[in-house]
Amino acid sequence: MTTELLPEPTQEHPVRALVDGTDVIGSLSPSRAADFMSCPLLYRFRVIDKLPEPPSPAAVRGTVVHSVLERLFDNPAAERTLEVASQLVRPEWDRLLATDPDLSAMFEGEDPVDLTAWLTECRALLGTYFALEDPRRLEPAEREVYVEHVLSSKLLLRGYVDRVDVAATGQVRVVDYKTGRSPGPAFEAKAMFQMKFYALVLWRSRGAIPTLLQLMYLGNAEILRYTPDEADLLATERKLDALWLAIARATESGTWLPRRSPLCGWCSHQALCPAWGGTPPPLPAPTP
Ligand code: SF4
Repeated sequence: MTTELLPEPTQEHPVRALVDGTDVIGSLSPSRAADFMSCPLLYRFRVIDKLPEPPSPAAVRGTVVHSVLERLFDNPAAERTLEVASQLVRPEWDRLLATDPDLSAMFEGEDPVDLTAWLTECRALLGTYFALEDPRRLEPAEREVYVEHVLSSKLLLRGYVDRVDVAATGQVRVVDYKTGRSPGPAFEAKAMFQMKFYALVLWRSRGAIPTLLQLMYLGNAEILRYTPDEADLLATERKLDALWLAIARATESGTWLPRRSPLCGWCSHQALCPAWGGTPPPLPAPTP
């Protein structure tokens, strides 16, 4: 899920709160962890300053496709066809727009997106999904499921998993849909980090390590699979604790360094970024 507009936990900066009786030191989702790893200043803009970002046609398209794939499984198996999925696109878009009318800005202004073409792109991504797997042969155990776990460091990990499949043998597969293209080999590990995050949370909260992690890239019909083990997930836990330590230090010092990369091309905050000649706004006053 990821760059898509899925429900994103807020208040990830170091604010103490009680979760199931534990005084947590803060919380992290895979998306915000990825933000800090890519660019600490981007994390600050999103989490501390909470700066608004204009809706991105690609991200909103991802949200619509995710919604359709979730709802598709409400139908009896025989009715989970591409035709039915395609017919869900418009109602899911209308539903999303009703909850967030500002999204209509994508289709207005100086460089408006063509709504008909955009909806066609959503349907094309669903066509790719059907080329990768047959939903009539699947019965997901869970869809769009919220998961959370408090580490022994008292860091709360949380996020939404697109789909969990449980085989008759008890084997668990964690599935995430991506509406972009798969990364090159050099970036596969980075992409799989999000899935290891979920695997860690599921292991710690449910007691068993998922058998398989599966990323489905609908942008170019590729599937990335990974079989996690205990050593992997312990390493992920250590990495997340270290990441939180770095976030806490940045919060304390007020130093959020920009990190230029090709991702800057998609960043909404270039005008405020010192790496691009801008000046960030003053940091908001700390929450009492
Ligand atoms: S423009 Fe680039 S360096 Fe600046 S905040 Fe955005 S991602 Fe970071």
